[in-house]
Amino acid sequence: MANDLFQTVPEARRRHMARVKGKDTKPEKIVRQTAHAIGLRFRLHRRDLPGTPDMVFPRLSTVVFVHGCFWHRHSGCRRCTTPKTRTEFWNAKFVTNVERDMRNSEQLVRMGWKVLVVWECETFDRDQLRVRLSNDLGSSQPRHDLDGNASPTTAILRSES
Ligand SMILES: [Zn+2]
Repeated sequence: MANDLFQTVPEARRRHMARVKGKDTKPEKIVRQTAHAIGLRFRLHRRDLPGTPDMVFPRLSTVVFVHGCFWHRHSGCRRCTTPKTRTEFWNAKFVTNVERDMRNSEQLVRMGWKVLVVWECETFDRDQLRVRLSNDLGSSQPRHDLDGNASPTTAILRSES
């Protein structure tokens, strides 16, 4: 098992790099499909925003990151394991990832965005995912307009009026 993990490092890292560049992952696709199914409209991978959020809901001033439980360290999740070999390497890598996530999130919040994280393990039960997305995004969706590069302030004012 440990050997297997060791041998998959380069491949896993390549996948991670691809992911960082904005390539789609399966959990991401599930979240997009689910959001779409409940009538939410969004933009993808806005590279001008910190961390290139996976989904952007301009009129809700909300961005969504779909995070892998392993790479992004989903606290308390059973997928959030630490390989038994090269533990120091992995821990350093994890710290870097988590710090980067926090930095991006803080920046986004300062810019007026609400930041949601959907964990990979939350995408396994689509019904539950639908409920969560509805609760966090659905009820306050004022319009399904994709033209919005609306400023966060504008979006908030509109949703309150
Ligand atoms: Zn998880």
